[in-house]
Amino acid sequence: MKADLRIIFMGPPGGGKGTQAKILQEKYGLEQISTGDMFRAAIKNETPLGVKVKAILASGALVPDDVTCALIAEKLDSMPKDKGFILDGFPRTIPQAKALDDMLSERSLHLDYAINLEVPDDYIIERIAGRYTCSKCSAMYNDSSKPTKVAGVCDECGSTEFVRRPDDNAEVLKSRLENYRDLTAPLLPYYEEKGILKSVDGVGTVGEVTNRIEKVLGY
Ligand code: ADP
Ligand code: ZN
Repeated sequence: MKADLRIIFMGPPGGGKGTQAKILQEKYGLEQISTGDMFRAAIKNETPLGVKVKAILASGALVPDDVTCALIAEKLDSMPKDKGFILDGFPRTIPQAKALDDMLSERSLHLDYAINLEVPDDYIIERIAGRYTCSKCSAMYNDSSKPTKVAGVCDECGSTEFVRRPDDNAEVLKSRLENYRDLTAPLLPYYEEKGILKSVDGVGTVGEVTNRIEKVLGY
């Protein structure tokens, strides 16, 4: 089994990157590196980084490239070099992609695949407007596609407290989708040219999408 693949997950907000990355992390021992999760943790813990990015995340704008790239460099340095990873939410701009190329080549590493999860806008709005997370164990749910088995009680840990992301509302979503189109979609031809872009249909059950990704990765 290839436990040292280095992969990028791309796709629109709410496209399922985080869900799929968590599954592959558990099944194959790849490290999920989610810039969104890292920023949200910093905000929750009120670290200097969190204080700096709180309003940016709430508005749906992107955190400046230098801040984001520094966070990733630090993360790469804190991991065993031979461990594979899934970058989920990074890179999100062409300058970030170029910075990543440099960071990896400085460490004699390279990317194996850029997986693009394709999900049409109509699905995204439903997925994002409905999603919520257990406050205690971070299990993810969705009002329409994956509600808790017992209303108001987490399937995993029994907690009755849940959170919704402040940027998961129709208005902020609009600017997140715009940013995706303007700043992030140009990464698709960038990785296509490198010959590592693989598109995967992101519509279907979580398990169906996982199967499609596993096929592409040769798992
Ligand atoms: P999404 O579900 O929209 O893909 P994420 O959890 O990946 O959301 O990211 C949430 C927010 O965190 C983004 O809207 C942005 O403000 C910030 N963020 C995450 N990754 C990056 C990045 N690579 N560059 C700049 N900002 C980022
Ligand atoms: Zn829970």
